[in-house]
Amino acid sequence: MNDHQTGNPSNTSIETLLTHAGRSPDDQFGFVNTPVYRGSTVLFKTLAELDAQSQRFLYGRAGNPTTESVEAVVTALEGAYRTKLVPSGLSAITIALMSCLKAGDDLLITDSAYEPGRKFANGFLERMGVTTRYYDPRIGAGLADLMLPNTRAVLAESPGSLTFEVQDIPALAAAAHAGGARLIVDNSWASPLYLKPLALGADIVVHAATKMFVGHSDAFAGTISTTEDAWADVERIRTLLGFFTSGDEAFLVARGLKTLAIRMKEHQERALEIAAWLEEQDEVTAVLHPALPSHPDHQLWKRDFTGSGSLFSFVAAPARREAVAAFVDHLELFTMGFSWGGYESLCLPVAIKSARTVQPWSDPGNLFRLHIGFEGIEDLKADLAAALGRYSRAR
Ligand SMILES: *Cc1c(COP(=O)(O)O)cnc(C)c1O
Repeated sequence: MNDHQTGNPSNTSIETLLTHAGRSPDDQFGFVNTPVYRGSTVLFKTLAELDAQSQRFLYGRAGNPTTESVEAVVTALEGAYRTKLVPSGLSAITIALMSCLKAGDDLLITDSAYEPGRKFANGFLERMGVTTRYYDPRIGAGLADLMLPNTRAVLAESPGSLTFEVQDIPALAAAAHAGGARLIVDNSWASPLYLKPLALGADIVVHAATKMFVGHSDAFAGTISTTEDAWADVERIRTLLGFFTSGDEAFLVARGLKTLAIRMKEHQERALEIAAWLEEQDEVTAVLHPALPSHPDHQLWKRDFTGSGSLFSFVAAPARREAVAAFVDHLELFTMGFSWGGYESLCLPVAIKSARTVQPWSDPGNLFRLHIGFEGIEDLKADLAAALGRYSRAR
């Protein structure tokens, strides 16, 4: 019942893929899971084998059975040609960008993009002779007007992981392709369960596997999945740069993926319940969650997505910095930190104005980003209600 190339079962419901794809107990003495492979050297028996380079594995830096066990699952989920596991979500973005760009080329990035990706473009690609411009995340088909003859890549993130604008991926793909550029989509928020960017026209999909795939805040990884056309450039750049992901990290990603479907479902329900509840609280002026009917991109979200993630933001009425401190400093369950995707709830005040260049952020309120984890839902509401009370008294 397994396809030997990919280890994928032929019946393709997402739940079945997550539990069966990428595993091959026959190759592991019957053990259910592919164990951690640690290894640099891979041995060849004869000169003919060395010359042919046709073994499944040649050198540990290119991958091992543990890293492949993850790649097979993500390929199946994204409907991709192939996937590469890389050391972090950021390296997935940087490799994907470099696979499309060379000196003299131009890059377009959504103004809502994950900030370290912007810093890579401004701090590294610029030195290598690539220009970067930013576009309004709601530009849609208007992207065509920004395309230059040398624009070779467009980086989208939908929704933006701080401000949650939904992007029109089919329209972006059409404009990018008409101008000879590839469309890269950061799909970390929805996961491949709830959005399939390749089916909507994207060429490359990246994930911060650190977040939802791992799911327990204890490992770093990223994935790059591509169409057949985009694959060779991605794999060549990754090989040239020497990026390697350890079997230990890969094992934790593989383990996380087994429960991704049930975790996403649970995160989705809880995040939506808290988001709807926050909409009714006095100090809250806006809740930025695309699955809420009040969200300006709700229709677009409904058209392209089949579900929503753990992460959203809200805006609290304008107040001085002390009120923000009063909110976050005495939270009992929510904790403050970067990253997200684990079982534990997080709350992050966001200084959004400095992160935007094209589409200035004009809301005078304070922006907070929440990741909703698996604590008791009423306990989480009580924690937020107390924080909103402190905020109100301090403002
Ligand atoms: C965290 C994050 C990344 C980067 O992932 P790391 O594994 O931390 O490097 C990329 N994109 C989004 C949307 C993220 O939230």
